[in-house]
Amino acid sequence: MKVFYSPEHQVHDPENEFTNAGAIPYPECARRATGIAAALSSNPSFEIEMPETIAPIALETIHDTGYLHFLAQVYAGQRSHTVELTPTTFPSRGRGRRPVTLKAQAGYYAFDTTPLTPGTWDAALTAAGSALTGADCLLEGARSAYALCRPPGHHAGRDYFGGYCYLNNAALATEKLAAHGRVALLDIDYHHGNGSQDIFYDSDQVFFVSIHADPDYQYPLYWGYADERGKGVGVGKTRNFPLPPNTGDKAYIETLDEALHCIEDFAPEYLIVSAGLDICREDPLGDWAITAEGVAQIGARIATAGVPTLLVQEGGYDLRDLGANVRQLLTAFI
Ligand SMILES: [Zn+2]
Repeated sequence: MKVFYSPEHQVHDPENEFTNAGAIPYPECARRATGIAAALSSNPSFEIEMPETIAPIALETIHDTGYLHFLAQVYAGQRSHTVELTPTTFPSRGRGRRPVTLKAQAGYYAFDTTPLTPGTWDAALTAAGSALTGADCLLEGARSAYALCRPPGHHAGRDYFGGYCYLNNAALATEKLAAHGRVALLDIDYHHGNGSQDIFYDSDQVFFVSIHADPDYQYPLYWGYADERGKGVGVGKTRNFPLPPNTGDKAYIETLDEALHCIEDFAPEYLIVSAGLDICREDPLGDWAITAEGVAQIGARIATAGVPTLLVQEGGYDLRDLGANVRQLLTAFI
């Protein structure tokens, strides 16, 4: 299986996340991706390649031009500047007007306190490049590929960032493939993929299915409820499966089988998997009990969809086991 990965992501490595418990070390750290790459590089099933370099205009299939300009410019000319920019003021539902200063635009384009750093834009651009190169790989005839993206993407919408996500890697790959046939986007990250859902909510070319911790108790809190089913021609093309705390292998696999049935009914030509491993038992951000054996079952079950599939890395914060868990998922899928 081809793996698309660039070490360039390491230029984005924020120090802290601000939580109700105070500042904590930033969970979405560079060691996550270097650990996954190390776990895969020692296995002959995987062939790690650098992604294509992409021009920012390739992002406009999904993202808003003003938003991209903001991300590209917020640290322009001061890449050596080390201070992180954390949005703290948000215009809320009415959105207000787009402010003139880049600093104020941070809150305008954010939905939480996810920070920006001097390296954020460069890292996000290479992550998007990994996903788009993975999509090209399927278009060239591969049955599967894996994009080792960091920062992750599924919380990012057309014109907003949050949840450690800036550019929606999986959505960019999905949109690219959707020009060639129907695409199912299966999000198995522990958290709901609100950005991805939002982007494809009114599409009948893309079927978005997510299995995640119930937003009644877990981030991102405002999206991911079972009655969110799409709008316009997209009605019925969004399905959410919120699950309770302590979800284990058996309940998860039953839900996954139901989700895969929905995908089968849609009859996609391509499948994108937003692969978050924060579903695993030891993950510090999750509270589920998925075992290594469960991860293997998930990989094997997803493969039964039987269509060209691109797996895109999302969350997963257990630095000790993340690499092994990803390898387990992909090996079982193969
Ligand atoms: Zn997550």
